[in-house]
Amino acid sequence: MKTSPKVNLLLFFFFSLFSSSITAFPHFFPNVSSIPPSFLRNITTSPWNSFNNLSGCHSGQKVPGISKLKNYFHYFGYIGNTTTNFTDDFDDALESAVKNYQLNFNLNVTGELDESTVKQILKPRCGVADIVNGSSTMNTGKAASMTGHTVAHYSFFPGRPRWPSWKQNLTYAFDPRNQLSDDVKRVFANAFSRWSEWTPLTFNESSNYFTADLRIGFYAGDHGDGEEFDGVLGTLAHAFAPPRGLLHLDSDETWIINDALASGSATAMDLESVAVHEIGHLLGLGHSSVEDAIMFPTISSGLRKVELARDDVEGIQELYGTNPDNNGTTGPSFGEREMSGGHRESSVLVQFLFLAVGLAFFVL
Ligand SMILES: [Zn+2]
Ligand SMILES: [Zn+2]
Repeated sequence: MKTSPKVNLLLFFFFSLFSSSITAFPHFFPNVSSIPPSFLRNITTSPWNSFNNLSGCHSGQKVPGISKLKNYFHYFGYIGNTTTNFTDDFDDALESAVKNYQLNFNLNVTGELDESTVKQILKPRCGVADIVNGSSTMNTGKAASMTGHTVAHYSFFPGRPRWPSWKQNLTYAFDPRNQLSDDVKRVFANAFSRWSEWTPLTFNESSNYFTADLRIGFYAGDHGDGEEFDGVLGTLAHAFAPPRGLLHLDSDETWIINDALASGSATAMDLESVAVHEIGHLLGLGHSSVEDAIMFPTISSGLRKVELARDDVEGIQELYGTNPDNNGTTGPSFGEREMSGGHRESSVLVQFLFLAVGLAFFVL
């Protein structure tokens, strides 16, 4: 039996919509106390918890689990692109990775997996790499000052991409498949306002996901851009530098949307805190070694951190200038910086899928 082209297109549309495993319905809770105990029992621990077993390890040792740690350092740019088939040997490459990591995160540079280093490694964080093609956005990319200390501050992606000056009024839209509530959308509106307050940029929600400058979606696991999410904790989100405009969040996280105090829970993540950080990437900022800065790569569960630090403001104003309506701006005063870091190359599967669905609508 032969089906008509229209039926074929309809089938394709539904296939695209429902067979795709790239979307999942995210878990939102107004506050920590509203998370049902049954839900908490269902969630697993961090994908990085096994690194606890490596505490105290140092160069020359061979310990089961080292290969997984090498994959971690490879993912975030601390071990070069040579291979992903790692051994359990604590070799020179790993020692160098540990040293650079310690430098970036303001830890004692010992090259050993001491307790404070392992503790930092375990913290949930942004999926954007700290070092790309051997050049760092953080402390390791900064020249040491006269005192021998590095000057920690903001950074940009390689080539310093930014939204062009004729495009200061940016639109954003949400992946319609996530069916986000107005409460969740308001969290993002607040997060965008943190950046528009200090710059000439404006952000307005668009109902058209296909044409918006900035596209936001929640996804689980492998979602088609080569940057897999890893379940509860671990990597929380990632975003791409201008002009790609993609902001992805891990739908497996326990997202808190309405708790100004965001009090303790081992796995609850404050959505606005993560959104403000990822919007920084959408606008062209890389990671910062300043711990108070929004662009610091890690965030602890239950922590709410939504106010731009001086470091963030100076970074974004170097790219876009000040907000003409806001006189309370701070001028850039840090002397040295690197234009480096960023995100790995990714496939265009997600965009292709949406193009196909949009085309099916248009033809029908
Ligand atoms: Zn980040
Ligand atoms: Zn993604």
